[in-house]
Amino acid sequence: MSVSSLPFIDLNAQRARIGTAIDAGLLRVAAHGQYILGPEVKALEADLNAFCGAKHCISVANGTEALAMPLMAKGLKPGDAVFCPSFTFAATAEVVAWLGAIPVFVDVHPDTFNINVDSLASGIREAKAKGLHPKAIIAVDLFGQPADYDAIEALAVEHGLWVMSDAAQSFGATYRTRKVGTIGLVTATSFFPSKPLGCYGDGGAIFTDDDEMAATLRSLRVHGQGSDKYDNVRIGLNARLDTMQAAVLIEKLKILADEIDARERVAQRYSSMLHDVVPVPHLLPDISSAWAQYTVLVPAAKRALIIARLKEQGVPTMVYYPKPLHRQTAYRDFPVVGNGLPVSERLADEVLSLPMHPYLDDATQDRIVSTFRQALKDL
Ligand SMILES: *Cc1c(COP(=O)(O)O)cnc(C)c1O
Repeated sequence: MSVSSLPFIDLNAQRARIGTAIDAGLLRVAAHGQYILGPEVKALEADLNAFCGAKHCISVANGTEALAMPLMAKGLKPGDAVFCPSFTFAATAEVVAWLGAIPVFVDVHPDTFNINVDSLASGIREAKAKGLHPKAIIAVDLFGQPADYDAIEALAVEHGLWVMSDAAQSFGATYRTRKVGTIGLVTATSFFPSKPLGCYGDGGAIFTDDDEMAATLRSLRVHGQGSDKYDNVRIGLNARLDTMQAAVLIEKLKILADEIDARERVAQRYSSMLHDVVPVPHLLPDISSAWAQYTVLVPAAKRALIIARLKEQGVPTMVYYPKPLHRQTAYRDFPVVGNGLPVSERLADEVLSLPMHPYLDDATQDRIVSTFRQALKDL
C-alpha cells in the first residue's frame, strides 16, 4: 500500500486562501510597469513598519544582503570581530567574511538553540586577548524564537558593541514588550518562500530606528547613490526588492498575525502530544515565536532511521542544521570560543524539524505524531 506524502510546508493551502488577491496584485504591477522600486515597495515598507513598530524599513533583495548591508553601513573592516552563533544558517557568518572581518563562533543554549550569553562573554574576552577588534554581535532568532536580547544588549553596552538581530526566521515574533524589527541597532529579515513571511522568490528587509543608518542603507541599496542616481558617494550594491515581490508581500502581511496564531496552536498541540517522548521546543518567559520551524531532539544514533521510517510513511522532516558553521569547510579556520562548541555540535546530531505551517489540521498532525511516536518506539 502506498501512502500519500505530506508537504513539509503547505504553500498551496495559503494560495487557496489569498491566491486570488496575490495574483491581482501581480497583475497590477505588470500593468503599471514600475518593476523597480514601484509604489508597492514603498507601500510594503510602510505596512511592515506599522506591523512591527520600527521607524524605518528598507526592503532588499534577500535576507543575506539584509544582513550584509548594516555591516557595510557601519564600515566593518578586516580584523574586526563579529560574534555569532555557530548553530545557524551560513548567511549569518558569511556576510562578516565578505567584508574581510572575522566571525567568532559562539555556542548556543541547549534548550532555546539561541546564542549563549556566557559563551558570548567568553568570546569577547578571548577576542580582545588575541588582539582582534570586537565590533558587533549578530544574534539569531533560530526557528522563530527571539534570542535573549536583554542579556545580549547588556553585554553589548558593557563592551561597546552594536547588535544586529538575524530575524530571518522570526519576523512576527515578540521579545517581552518589543516586536521583532525593533530590537538591536538593526534587524535583518528574509522573505525566502519558506520563511513565516515569504514572497514568490527572494526578498528581505532591514529595520532600524536610527535615521543615519536608514539613510546609509537606502544609499547602499542603489549603488551607494547620493543626491541623484548618477552621484555615487559610497561603494554600494544592487539590493532592491522587486516590485512584484512587494505586491505578494502586501497581501501576505495582512494575514501574518493570524497565521502566526495558527502556527502557535499547531506548536502547542505538537508539544502536548510529544513532550513525554522527546525534548520539545522551549520558549523563554514573555517571548513568542514566529514558529518558522517546530524542532525536537531525537537520539543521534537513531535519527537517520527515524527520518527514513517517517519518509516511508509519507511524513517529511528536515534537519536544520546538520553541521554547525565552525565545522563547515568554508568556516573552520575562524575562531571558536573556548575549546569547542559542544552544544552546537550535539544539536547538529540530534535536531529534527517536523512539518510546520499555519494550515496543518488536527487530523494531519495526529498522523504525523503517531507515525513519529511509533518510529521512536520501534527503533
Ligand atoms: C534564511 C536565512 C538567512 C538568509 O536569507 P536569504 O533570504 O535566503 O538570503 C539568514 N539567516 C538565517 C538564520 C536564515 O534562516
